[in-house]
Order: sequence, then structure tokens, then C-alpha cells
Amino acid sequence: RDPRRRQRRRYRLGVMGGTFDPIHHGHLVAASEVASRFELDEVVFVPTGRPWQKGHRDVSAPEDRYLMTVIATASNPRFTVSRVDIDRPGLTYTVDTLRDLRRERGEDVDFFFITGADALSQILTWRGFEELFELAHFVGVTRPGHDLNEPPIGQLPAGSLTLMEVPALSISSTGCRDRVEAGEPIWYLVPDGIVQYIAKRGLYREEHTEESITG
Ligand code: ATP
Ligand code: MG
Repeated sequence: RDPRRRQRRRYRLGVMGGTFDPIHHGHLVAASEVASRFELDEVVFVPTGRPWQKGHRDVSAPEDRYLMTVIATASNPRFTVSRVDIDRPGLTYTVDTLRDLRRERGEDVDFFFITGADALSQILTWRGFEELFELAHFVGVTRPGHDLNEPPIGQLPAGSLTLMEVPALSISSTGCRDRVEAGEPIWYLVPDGIVQYIAKRGLYREEHTEESITG
């Protein structure tokens, strides 16, 4: 046996998927807490293309959501952003996200998929359910208003999921969008750069249309 082989630690990559419309401190705290607890080398944030669960409402342009995610994560040396989902045509499924990242990063990486309690309770409905748990270890974090222990969590493959309590932040992207539309502040719910980006681009205001994106 080569002793160096035993010492070499596998790279540990957290994956935080989301619409990030906009990214807020709930996302950032969840990623930071999981990174600390699981000793992750990196957390990659992956803004969705067209999320299949959100077909009912118009989601902001992918480039706006991508740039907000870059702005919000720029100050953390372990946080990165991937374009795999926004560059893939069609609806976004987590199994495709994990397959693409696996192809990019190779086999010497352990994946930890981070998800809030609300998304976790839908997990049995996700496409490629069995394969998901071969691609990544799942980490479910607490979120105010959602129960981490409700079914179908008991039906998941043994050892494939860790539940973790994180400091409760009752912040949602929906709440942030509603506040902007109502002219209420979002300071301290999202990073300062995100407040400014939203104002600069005129996002979430009722009169906002595609035309203001293209000029
Ligand atoms: P929306 O209201 O548009 O659904 P959201 O706030 O739920 O937005 P998403 O982009 O849908 O944000 O969430 C991405 C991931 O982050 C999901 O796994 C979600 O459960 C998790 N998450 C979002 N907000 C929090 C929070 N405050 N605490 C813990 N996890 C969160
Ligand atoms: Mg959500």
C-alpha cells in the first residue's frame, strides 16, 4: 500500500441549487452552515434554467439571476457559481445538474447536495430519484414554516440523507419580490449588492417588462 494514498483526502463539493430570484441570506447561511459542518472545500451555487416546479410564474432572466448569485457569493473564497443549468436548454432537473457537474469535476470528488426542508419534502417527485442518491449525499436543512421530518423522508435510501438544523431565517425570494413590488425595503434580507442590482435593473416592479431588459 502506498501511504500517500491513504492520506489523500477526497475533494468535498457542496451543490446548492435554486432559482435565486433573488438570492438572499437564507441561501447563504444554509450553504455556509453545511460547508462548516461537512468540511466542504467548495460550495457551487447553481441557478436553475427553467425550474419545472415554477412553470406557473415568470422567472427573471437567467443572466440576472446568475449575476446576482455571482455578486452575492463573490466575497467568499469557497463559494462559486456554475452555469450548467442556465446553459442547458429546457427545464431544469436536479439529476441533470448532478450528472453535468460530475462530468466536469471527475470521479475524485464527493458531492453534497444542499436543500431546504420545503424542497426536500418534494424529493420523491424529482426525476431520476434513485440515481440522485448515487450521485450525491443529500443534506436537508431546516427552514421556518417547513417540517424536516415529514414524509416522504423516511422512504429515502438509508444513509443517503443528513438532516441539519441551521439558524432560522424567515426569508424567501417570494417575500423579497413582493416587498420590492410594494416599495418596501429588502436591506439586510439580501446582500447590499443585491439590493443595488435589483434597483439598477428595475427587477420585480410591476411595470417591469422584457423590454427593459433588452433596452
Ligand atoms: P421562492 O420563494 O421563489 O421559491 P426561495 O426563497 O424558496 O424562493 P429557492 O431559490 O426556491 O428560494 O431555494 C433554493 C434552495 O434554498 C431550496 O433548497 C430552498 O429550500 C433553500 N432555502 C431557501 N430559503 C431558505 C431559508 N430561509 N432557509 C433555509 N433554506 C432555504
Ligand atoms: Mg423555493
